[in-house]
Amino acid sequence: MLIIDGSFGEGGGQILRTSLGLSLVTGTAFRIEKIRGGRKSPGILRQHLTAINAAAKIGQAEVVGASLNSQQLTFIPKKVLAGDYSFAIGTAGSATLVLQTILPALLLADGPTNLILEGGTHNPAAPPFDFLEKTFLKQINRMGVNVTLELVRPGFYPAGGGQFKVNIKPVKKLLGFELTSRGEIISRRARALVASLPTEIADRELSFIAQRMSWDKSCLHKEIINNSRGPGNVVFIELESENLTEIFTAFGERGVRAEAVADEAVKEARHYLAAGVPVGEYLADQLLIPFALAGSGVFTTFGLSLHTTTNIEIIKKFLKVNINTKQLGKLSTTIEIA
Ligand code: ATP
Repeated sequence: MLIIDGSFGEGGGQILRTSLGLSLVTGTAFRIEKIRGGRKSPGILRQHLTAINAAAKIGQAEVVGASLNSQQLTFIPKKVLAGDYSFAIGTAGSATLVLQTILPALLLADGPTNLILEGGTHNPAAPPFDFLEKTFLKQINRMGVNVTLELVRPGFYPAGGGQFKVNIKPVKKLLGFELTSRGEIISRRARALVASLPTEIADRELSFIAQRMSWDKSCLHKEIINNSRGPGNVVFIELESENLTEIFTAFGERGVRAEAVADEAVKEARHYLAAGVPVGEYLADQLLIPFALAGSGVFTTFGLSLHTTTNIEIIKKFLKVNINTKQLGKLSTTIEIA
């Protein structure tokens, strides 16, 4: 049985999710110890527990230690079963991270899958629904699969209650590709979402972005959400280039000025524009597993985050794959999978 140290490197929930995902794909049993050992409150949170239960269900796995706050887990998978599933977190924990856990196995399953996922759809420190749809899955669908998403209702912290549907048409073998340049930027958008909060917040965020990015009004979009369980505010800066769309997200918080929220997204977008690379920090760590499963491909991103280097080491424990990183400049690294 493979033993994984959950406190290794970045020491967060990603080690658990990557291990679950690749255990399902490869049929490798593993035990993880010191789960989220690098975090202030280590152990399994509700969001991770839902991911474990979802992985166990689709992989018919035998599981020991799957309880809240547990710092050890043993996971022994059998065959992955495609089909129709519904998984609910029960809190505002990220439902998109549950998808991140089970998606690799479902991309390679022996039939299509329909998922209904419930919980948070727009959470700090997780891929927002919009990023999944426009950034991540657009690239995944270049690998031969067809994954589509539908947002039924957004879910924000702390009320949760969001829901989205996923349809996955798998392939026998994922195809790697090259993503080393962005191409020309063809569209720029700033979107400010508000749910059950004064719409003036969105106006202020958008006018701040327009001013800092020197964008005109046609780039600004205010979206008022009427169907969420609780209040929320999210700002997206979306840069659509010929080869990919990157999205920079910031979340409104009580006590934080709208301009300061928008500024977070502006800083990220400017950093991306200055670096000239196609793949942003988050997309880089999310592309690693699918590229590693394809066994080929290359992409260019910023300098490597601890998140990415940690993920690479965990992937190498499950898959016989070469992942070579080459720093091209201060702000640019190529990751080649062979
Ligand atoms: P914790 O251990 O505290 O629970 P975690 O390990 O579960 O945290 P992270 O390690 O921070 O969570 O990983 C979160 C995932 O969400 C990563 O795949 C990261 O790329 C992704 N992510 C975080 N923020 C964004 C964002 N703004 N846009 C897109 N993806 C994001």
